[in-house]
Amino acid sequence: MAEERGVVNRRDFAKAIGIAGLSLAAKSYLPPIKLPSGDGKPGKLKQWVWIGTDADTSDDEWKRRFAVMRDAGIDAILPEIYNSRQAFYQSRHLPVGQPWLEQILPLAKEAGLEVHAWMWTMPCNVDEVVEKHPEWFVVNRLGESSVTNPAYVRYYKFLCPSRPEAWEFVRETVSELSEIDGLSGVHLDYIRYPDVILPVGLQPRYHIVQDREYPQYDYCYCDVCRADFKKKTGVDPKEIADPSEDQAWKQFRYDRITHIVNEILLPVAHGRKKLMTAAVFPNWKDVRQEWSQWRLDGFLPMLYAKFYNGGVDWIAEKTKEELKSQRYGAPVYSGLSVGQLSADEIAEAVRASRAAGGSGVSLFSAQAMNDVKWSSFKTAVASLK
Ligand SMILES: [Zn+2]
Repeated sequence: MAEERGVVNRRDFAKAIGIAGLSLAAKSYLPPIKLPSGDGKPGKLKQWVWIGTDADTSDDEWKRRFAVMRDAGIDAILPEIYNSRQAFYQSRHLPVGQPWLEQILPLAKEAGLEVHAWMWTMPCNVDEVVEKHPEWFVVNRLGESSVTNPAYVRYYKFLCPSRPEAWEFVRETVSELSEIDGLSGVHLDYIRYPDVILPVGLQPRYHIVQDREYPQYDYCYCDVCRADFKKKTGVDPKEIADPSEDQAWKQFRYDRITHIVNEILLPVAHGRKKLMTAAVFPNWKDVRQEWSQWRLDGFLPMLYAKFYNGGVDWIAEKTKEELKSQRYGAPVYSGLSVGQLSADEIAEAVRASRAAGGSGVSLFSAQAMNDVKWSSFKTAVASLK
């Protein structure tokens, strides 16, 4: 199983560097580490905004936008600097679009904003990787690879979380980002499997009804996953009559993602004194993402109410529920899809999230905000305690 492999790797590593290096090696893997002061502690409010890739805007315009955000009460920005195809920073291992992160980092810092690099995690649409390593990608219960038969949309090519080569690929991105001076954190998006069931409000958009788990959306049944599970339980997951009812098989997949987060990626970020956060799902079982078990510094659940046929009440209810389920007590920042909300609803959601125990909100996205919405947001944030 993956967890055992991780342990073996660590031992080999310790052996390779010798006894003198042991304490150093152990230290880089073991939490807790000292984080930048005041960050990542429950109770301290922080307001975030995701910014979709926008590499063609001038410095002056960014200065203006950052001033608006800061004035409205935003503390941290999340620029999308890797979208599973191209990096928008000077990566050494990914195809580079433009060095956008390098452009905005000093400007954002000057405006008093923290910068957290928003990266896609498990999907990989880098042509070279797809062509050279199709075996790194997840396979559904019908035996179809996400390379040739991606679910829902063409870019749903997800790496298999049981493949050490896939972890290494993702870890390299986190490692590069963690080396960037002035960056406050790394923000993981798409750290999960493909949705076995889409949010109920989204299904009509794809003209599908998912009243249960269907095999074409159910991952991963690749050779490595099947062999690992069989070794652990004696059962080939392909032989399970109703996988949606098999707790051990579900837990195995939750644990694969948890392993990548806690054991593979987090030590890299913390080793360079970077915070690590993630964009996560309220319907976590549908994407095999048991984030209540992750040791991150904060969570930004995507509480996009309309996808779940909910309103502001639903956002508050989910925030409360999610805080309660946290194993390690990290702060939760309610993610709001501001394009779905009126200016008044944004203000209402900011207050409701706080009343539910949230440590702030995260706006999706800067591009969906306007003057009226910023003004309403600002008033709501200023009223928080
Ligand atoms: Zn697999």
